[in-house]
Amino acid sequence: MSLKRLQLTLAIFKPDITAQPHIIKEVRSMLLQHKFYFIRSKELRLSRQRAEEFYQEHKGKFFLNRLVSFMSSGPLSAHILARDNAVQEWRRLMGPTKVLRTIHEDADSIRGMYGLTDTRNCTHGSDSPESAAKEIAFFFPEFSIDHWYREDESCYREGKVFYDNDTGMHMLQR
Ligand code: GDP
Repeated sequence: MSLKRLQLTLAIFKPDITAQPHIIKEVRSMLLQHKFYFIRSKELRLSRQRAEEFYQEHKGKFFLNRLVSFMSSGPLSAHILARDNAVQEWRRLMGPTKVLRTIHEDADSIRGMYGLTDTRNCTHGSDSPESAAKEIAFFFPEFSIDHWYREDESCYREGKVFYDNDTGMHMLQR
């Protein structure tokens, strides 16, 4: 049993891959293989306004308009993931931001395998535990990180959970 506290991160499957069920299946399977836990998942659509809010740190960047149009163009799914070192490990699986370079430099990553353009790059992952907390609150306002650490974290860390194929989430073995 690991003594190290699990970390939470936020993952988004972007509209380019939600339109491709076989890619979603593969990404989920990579996450399970790499020992991530699916804590919460939801499917949703973002309005332009909400997408702008989510990416407000990129205000003024040349790609923002394209990014916001893309993120509000179709369904996406958001996931709270848990793992030892989840933030860094999920970003490592995703691969670097710029697909047109990543397909050469990190071909086995998700973006390397399935990315279409620098905008349509499959997935999002929080870049620090602090942004993970903010992004989890953005997509899952009903979820309390404190409560999860208090009540559930040790069960996940000790592996007292199972993956439920119907919901695509891990459940506690109570
Ligand atoms: P991430 O954390 O790896 O997703 O990267 P950023 O936070 O820097 O950028 C957010 C998103 O904006 C990326 O995932 C891309 O979809 C898009 N993006 C970032 N940089 C570029 C760029 O140079 N060109 C284009 N077209 N899109 C970009």
